[in-house]
Amino acid sequence: MKYTFRGGYHPPDGKSFSEKMPIDKMPAPKIAAIHLHQHIGAPSKAIVAVGDDVKVGQPLSEAGGFVSVPVHASVSGKVKAIAKVADAAGVKSDAVIIESDGKDEFFEGVGVKTDYSNFSADEIKKKISAAGIAGMGGARFPTHVKLSPPAEKKIDYIILNGVECEPYLTADDRLMQESPETIIEGMKLMMKVVNAANGIIGIEKNKPDSIRIMKEKTASEKNMKVIELEVKYPQGGEKQLIVAAIGKEVPSGGLPMDVGVVVSNVGTANAVYEAVALNKPFYERVVSVTGESIKDPKNVLARIGTPTTELIEYAGGVKEDVYKIINGGPMMGAAMYALDAPVHKGTSGILCLSRENAAVYEEQPCISCSKCVSVCPSRLLPTDIQLNVQHKRYEEAEKLGIMDCILCGTCAYVCPAKRNLVHYYNIGRAKIAEMKKKK
Ligand code: SF4
Ligand code: SF4
Repeated sequence: MKYTFRGGYHPPDGKSFSEKMPIDKMPAPKIAAIHLHQHIGAPSKAIVAVGDDVKVGQPLSEAGGFVSVPVHASVSGKVKAIAKVADAAGVKSDAVIIESDGKDEFFEGVGVKTDYSNFSADEIKKKISAAGIAGMGGARFPTHVKLSPPAEKKIDYIILNGVECEPYLTADDRLMQESPETIIEGMKLMMKVVNAANGIIGIEKNKPDSIRIMKEKTASEKNMKVIELEVKYPQGGEKQLIVAAIGKEVPSGGLPMDVGVVVSNVGTANAVYEAVALNKPFYERVVSVTGESIKDPKNVLARIGTPTTELIEYAGGVKEDVYKIINGGPMMGAAMYALDAPVHKGTSGILCLSRENAAVYEEQPCISCSKCVSVCPSRLLPTDIQLNVQHKRYEEAEKLGIMDCILCGTCAYVCPAKRNLVHYYNIGRAKIAEMKKKK
């Protein structure tokens, strides 16, 4: 059976820079700036004050609603300020700024092994929520919310996303090779929460070591399987992964739960295990610091709140030919506006590119070649949507399915005229959301 989806494209993957580099635990920063809002949903609310002493894993905030998660201290030390700090896109929002005391002392109970074998589904979910877990694959959706479908939505599958189809990034690949047992245990916990009978781990064929290890480790699990996916971007999109894994299409405007599925990233599964079994909140994550313009590409385990500049220094610094630094991968990531922006829960990579690979082009008129149509994994008409947004015909763009666009950028990548298509989709989607809010 061929596990894949319709459309898509395979850009050069650039993974060789860091795919062989083991996860390297980098030192805790002297100053950690931890944003209160690092997830989709309501910002969390600070529960510490300037001058408080805090320890690693201590909650700094409480959830601001059901679709919200708290944040935790990633270093021990003193709260120096709660102030506006710019994120990678340059958007300023409140962050708790901690000056480390260098002791790295843990908050009471953090890291203590727990016998969770008799935990109920509700107890597991509460642990996940209290640990501040939000999807690590980029969408940053609170995990406990994903695991709370309405009663009428029966969940048959947990599908773990080990695809990592974004070029250059290798954090998930390394995690699958180095922590397969904890990822599998995290998946079992999620299956228990939603009472799913089956677990599937989807990995692209260009990660043979991860495939071999995950197959070995799941060999005795009757209700789990590892599937080898065709190498094609955006294979890691939720809808594309579901169709490849079980052949079901999520309806337009629908969610994976509509076809009985919850999709979760492998890093998220690992974080779920740590939250439940080790009482460890989400205060660190694996980040690929990579690209042809970084001296010593690495996969680092970095504390949330570490300035990006420290990750770059830890990887030997940038080469002279560096032209662009991207937060995330080259397809869906964005050029960094503020280089000292702190690591977030959704930071999967810091990518340092030379001018040659930084895709700097001048937009040309559309030549109606329809290449964008043939690769769109959401079966949209990219150029028609773009034209409608350009002429402020937002209702038309909505009718053409702009809200089903997953912003994967494949259309823009293949476009010979180098149309800045995704830029228009972002504008159009924001306008439509604004119009709906007003209504
Ligand atoms: S229209 Fe959207 S979903 Fe389709 S290729 Fe372009 S960015 Fe991806
Ligand atoms: S790929 Fe570019 S040039 Fe070709 S139809 Fe689409 S927008 Fe126009």
